[in-house]
Amino acid sequence: MPLIDTFKHHGLRRHLINDLRRDPRIPESSPVFEAFYQVPRHLFLDKAFELQAYSNIAFQIGAGQTISHPITVAFQTYLLDLEKGDKVLEIGTGSGFQTCILFALGAEVYSIERQKELYLKSKPLIHDLVVYIRENKKKVFLEKKTEILENKALTRDQQRALVDSAESTLRPRNHVPKLSYGDGYLGQPMHAPFDKIIVTCGAPGIPQTLIDQLKPGGIMIIPVGEGKEQIMKRIIKQENGTLSIEEYGTFKFVPMLENTAK
Ligand code: SAH
Repeated sequence: MPLIDTFKHHGLRRHLINDLRRDPRIPESSPVFEAFYQVPRHLFLDKAFELQAYSNIAFQIGAGQTISHPITVAFQTYLLDLEKGDKVLEIGTGSGFQTCILFALGAEVYSIERQKELYLKSKPLIHDLVVYIRENKKKVFLEKKTEILENKALTRDQQRALVDSAESTLRPRNHVPKLSYGDGYLGQPMHAPFDKIIVTCGAPGIPQTLIDQLKPGGIMIIPVGEGKEQIMKRIIKQENGTLSIEEYGTFKFVPMLENTAK
């Protein structure tokens, strides 16, 4: 399937990112915003809703589920405090948008979805986007490199240092997100432990299985609450295994349900 991402879409994206940058909870310099630029959100919604894709709203994606608000994705991702190469477990692949944001930030992503329909829909899309994001990163790197090498005000050593640093942030990852159809409550014991875990559905409590699959020093971001609203929690697993828990306000997510749906 050819991915259509025009200048118009780029413009809409810049607009959305400018809006998101105004949110005082996320520092303006966060790499999350650049990742939003690399991932064309309109491709995760039906074509008829292209324009809405770049408004700060949640949206139906099928099987009664929603793609999260852009600001929620940005905020949860920011709280994860990603480092390049982090091994990240995502619960609730949904449309795959959050998965692609994590990939664009250089994470090694494992994602689980319990709705078969969504798993089957997002898998090929994520794979196409991985190729697209990689190619774009390569293009951006080559442009940056040319710009640095043409800058006569820099010494050779300065040029080399700048090219190296651009390469290290823009070098595409070889790791393709690993997607699975299953129950997120079980996590991914085969691939544990994880540096980070992000739960994108509202959990009634903090699942112990997921805590067990987090590395000492690891971080889990999870909206917790039994009713319609949840409190965003950032859980840091200390080296000795105890948990430190911070709270970041109220959000509304679809519920984290047990078992799989056909
Ligand atoms: N990250 C998604 C958000 C989708 S909404 C995106 O960017 O689009 C949350 C998703 O969590 C839904 O698709 C829902 O089916 C899924 N979900 C709920 N409970 C789950 C569970 N136990 N295991 C895996 N996925 C679950």
